[in-house]
Amino acid sequence: MTDTPAEARVQQPLPWHADAWQQLHLRRQRLPHALLMTGYAGIGKQQFAQALAASLLCEQVQTNGHACGHCTACNWLAQGTHPDFRRIGLAVEAAEEGEANKRSGQWISIGQIRDLAEFVQLSSHRQGLRVVLLEAADRLNSYAANALLKTLEEPPERVMFLLVSDQLHRVLPTIRSRCQQVLLPMPEAQQARQWLQTQGQVPDALLDLAGGMPLLAQRYQQEGWSGEWQQVVEWLSRPKQEPVSLVAGWSKLPLPALHDWISKWLHDLLQVTSAGMPRYYPARQEALQTLAARADRQALLACLNTVQQAKPLLTHPLNAKLVMEQWLFAYRGLWQKRAAG
Ligand SMILES: [Zn+2]
Repeated sequence: MTDTPAEARVQQPLPWHADAWQQLHLRRQRLPHALLMTGYAGIGKQQFAQALAASLLCEQVQTNGHACGHCTACNWLAQGTHPDFRRIGLAVEAAEEGEANKRSGQWISIGQIRDLAEFVQLSSHRQGLRVVLLEAADRLNSYAANALLKTLEEPPERVMFLLVSDQLHRVLPTIRSRCQQVLLPMPEAQQARQWLQTQGQVPDALLDLAGGMPLLAQRYQQEGWSGEWQQVVEWLSRPKQEPVSLVAGWSKLPLPALHDWISKWLHDLLQVTSAGMPRYYPARQEALQTLAARADRQALLACLNTVQQAKPLLTHPLNAKLVMEQWLFAYRGLWQKRAAG
């Protein structure tokens, strides 16, 4: 998720979603009252949903179904002031809704859904549709999910719900069943690379790290940890340096970033030990093969387990540096044991 407000400008669908767009456009007059956009994280589902919202609200829609970008409705949407549009994003959970929820990171709150219930009962300002865009439909706590379900079960007239999720299994089945699902594809590698070239300098290695998901690659670039990332990959390739001194240099590196890089490295290492191809670090195939030749598969799995077990800590790490060191020691231990044995 970026910090830029979704309404900053009227969005258009990404090139690899042209077919999905066309199919929806063809049945524009017969769309159900709720659509659930699904697919991998980092492929542009939010952008698709925003483009669709813009298209549904636009008062001079183009023949391909894209919003015109300059009518009154488009201007309002671009400024974030369209009275018939609501976007529900993640908010920090209010304390009164329970300790368990408070600890688990970001959620859509019951308060946001209650506001929504009021909004959908209003009549349209522009005599058209009212559109609700709900990001991260998998991040509704149980109160919020049930409140939303009520609204979806008794859909108000002329309201369109656009839900987005990349973790479909976490969306309440009763909510899923009230929506028509739109499965959005990921782009071909070449298409992703071409698009990233139009977005500025995003190295191919970041697209690899993102598993081919171009918006995730773009986010990696924007997060600006590529220096630390290079350092980590160098170290993982040749784990000689002592972890404590290495970690000491990463004063601000977020734990989830390191978790992501190491998990993917271990994934690739396991792939290579069973004669597979690396998915996230193809440029490091040689180093991975050298390590894989020395690796004990069981020990590798145990190391991956150590890293995965820390997942609940990622949102509220007590001591990020300590956790980082623990991972690096576990990894370095893999090779030291082999050398000793
Ligand atoms: Zn327009």
